[in-house]
Amino acid sequence: MSEQRCDSYYNATINDETHYPRLEEDIRVDVVIIGGGFTGVATAVELAEKGIKVAILEANKIAWGATGRNGGQVTGSLSGDAAMTKQRRNSIGTEAADYV
Ligand SMILES: Cc1cc2nc3c(=O)[nH]c(=O)nc-3n(C[C@H](O)[C@H](O)[C@H](O)COP(=O)(O)OP(=O)(O)OC[C@H]3O[C@@H](n4cnc5c(N)ncnc54)[C@H](O)[C@@H]3O)c2cc1C
Repeated sequence: MSEQRCDSYYNATINDETHYPRLEEDIRVDVVIIGGGFTGVATAVELAEKGIKVAILEANKIAWGATGRNGGQVTGSLSGDAAMTKQRRNSIGTEAADYV
């Protein structure tokens, strides 16, 4: 378990550090999420917005894993242009996707 952030561009340029308490007592929630990366945090936000009580258990720090180390490239697919085009059409519709 590490309280330290990894050595990455994001962490070198961080301007809004957050701190969360260590879980030291029993709590009661609807959903427990293990891991505070993109997946865990996005899931938590989605659930919380629906009124579901959720807790994230993160062994290190939020975004300590792949989330705090990635290249920041926004892409719909690592499977190539055809897969990405298909995914975009499914998400936002053919007309809008082909306009992008
Ligand atoms: C070097 C690199 C470059 C990348 N570049 C890109 C890119 O350019 N574009 C892109 O879209 N994607 C990129 N990715 C992929 C992307 O970063 C990952 O797919 C994404 O961050 C995964 O998020 P995650 O929440 O699933 O996992 P993670 O961010 O790894 O989060 C998992 C978390 O779970 C915690 N954890 C693990 N076990 C436990 C446990 N037992 N108890 C409590 N906590 C635990 C870890 O500490 C960690 O914080 C890259 C990944 C890497 C590594």
